[in-house]
Amino acid sequence: MALITKLPSSSSTITQFKTPQISNPNPKFSNSIQFTKTSCSASPFTEKHSIERYQRDKWVFKNELNQNPPENQSIFSTRDYEIALQLPELKNLLRVLREKREKGGNGEGGIGNVFLVGTGPGDPDLLTLKALKVIQKADLLLYDRLVSNDVLDLVGPDARLLYVGKTAGYHSRTQEEIHELLLSFAEVGANVVRLKGGDPLVFGRGGEEMDFLQQKGIQVKVIPGITAASGIAAELGVPLTHRGVANSVRFLTGHSRKGGADPLFVAGNAADPDSTLVVYMGLSTLPALVVKLIQHGLPSDTPAAAVERGTTPQQRIVLAELKDLADKITSEQFVSPTLIFIGKVVALSPLWPQSCTNESSCLIPQV
Ligand code: SAH
Repeated sequence: MALITKLPSSSSTITQFKTPQISNPNPKFSNSIQFTKTSCSASPFTEKHSIERYQRDKWVFKNELNQNPPENQSIFSTRDYEIALQLPELKNLLRVLREKREKGGNGEGGIGNVFLVGTGPGDPDLLTLKALKVIQKADLLLYDRLVSNDVLDLVGPDARLLYVGKTAGYHSRTQEEIHELLLSFAEVGANVVRLKGGDPLVFGRGGEEMDFLQQKGIQVKVIPGITAASGIAAELGVPLTHRGVANSVRFLTGHSRKGGADPLFVAGNAADPDSTLVVYMGLSTLPALVVKLIQHGLPSDTPAAAVERGTTPQQRIVLAELKDLADKITSEQFVSPTLIFIGKVVALSPLWPQSCTNESSCLIPQV
């Protein structure tokens, strides 16, 4: 097993390579390898009950944080309780913004804008300048779990932050509630920013929010972000396409539309050795996907990688042949967010064990 430590620094991120030690040497092909970082343990992302979250949202929770929960709290789910707390403050904020608008622009006011902003995979240095400008001018920002705390630190001091994230099995807001919130605040003239991890239009439900708001006459501006595939491929040093190795790249979701556990509807035509696959939300369904890809002809020794919390100081990387990847991820207890790369290009990473270059099974053609 090899250890790679990524040290956070004020201006850039330094990756230190330590001598690789292969954990389970396979005499034929020792390329199951894990990279971890040592220093940080806390998640860089906004967990639903993190202290960070409550501190950031304290305008919503003010005076309530230190109070005992109401006697009948036990009959409510956490979510009901939180929404009940937030609603009066949200109504207050709407009133304040409405009054501000009426006093301001000659009584004319105007409908506000909604900006759908991609924040990239986590490293705040991967934000676009455009995103930064919009974030700093916002009145209200709605953010979800994959917006990193470092990105939230860039929000202006007067802006209001509201967590609307979803985690598996727990939705702090339904999609409909998010639509209504965006609409209500845009209607009172607020500059509303909807922050989304990565790119808002890649597995981000950005299209649905845009569609809803446009139908209500609200102008939506989209500011793209670096999608996890691009940001994390750069960390790995993996070209997603490479002449003579991969002539296309395909982004897949590991979840079926109904939220079921069958990602296999795509696997049949995704098993193309000349294409790179990047699987989003694929942790739980990876074992089934691998079986299907191999059944459809993808070589079982295809190079693959899984990256947890990519581009953040907590990033962990596992590199392995396709057939071994799922076991490796399970034994390392990877959690969401994790992104999976499958394809010959993975072996072009400088992190890929050197030993594999001597093996025909991962020989990359010269270009
Ligand atoms: N709109 C986002 C994707 C949202 S879907 C984008 O363009 O990147 C959520 C999935 O994205 C996660 O389950 C994970 O597979 C992937 N992901 C996003 N950020 C990630 C990160 N920092 N590290 C690893 N995977 C990430």
